[in-house]
Amino acid sequence: MFIFAATNPLQPVLDVYNSGAFRAGVRLGLLLIVLLWLALALWVYKDARRRMADPILIGVAVAAGLLFPFVGAFIYLFLRPPEYLADVRERELEIRLMERRFGGADHCPYCKADVEADYLVCPACSGRLKKACSTCQKPLDPTWRVCPYCASAPPPPA
Ligand SMILES: [Zn+2]
Ligand SMILES: [Zn+2]
Repeated sequence: MFIFAATNPLQPVLDVYNSGAFRAGVRLGLLLIVLLWLALALWVYKDARRRMADPILIGVAVAAGLLFPFVGAFIYLFLRPPEYLADVRERELEIRLMERRFGGADHCPYCKADVEADYLVCPACSGRLKKACSTCQKPLDPTWRVCPYCASAPPPPA
């Protein structure tokens, strides 16, 4: 080493490269990169579980995150479903509630009380809501021309 020191102008650079501190720094840097890669794959797994119900799709996303360090997680960021499953479920529940609240068939036309779609009379005001099928006794909408449950002849006019 000391023999070449006088002739090689790059020797100080080589000394730094060969020094223990530099190698430890490189090793630490590599370790950090690997940790970041694994952390990203873990993040993909956690995020995918909140957005996807299909375990195969989650597996594909995590595999992409592991097989293609950084790039896989980056691509997942663009391809992932835009919504959390919990949000989708909550919205569907809200829509169903709205339909119950504003659906025409769910309120008594006389007193506006809440009624179920298969009620024959309103439990609050005893107003007639629907006619029972003469064959199968299922509640029929007045506009129906044939019973959809038993396909019997058109119900007799009221
Ligand atoms: Zn009523
Ligand atoms: Zn019927």
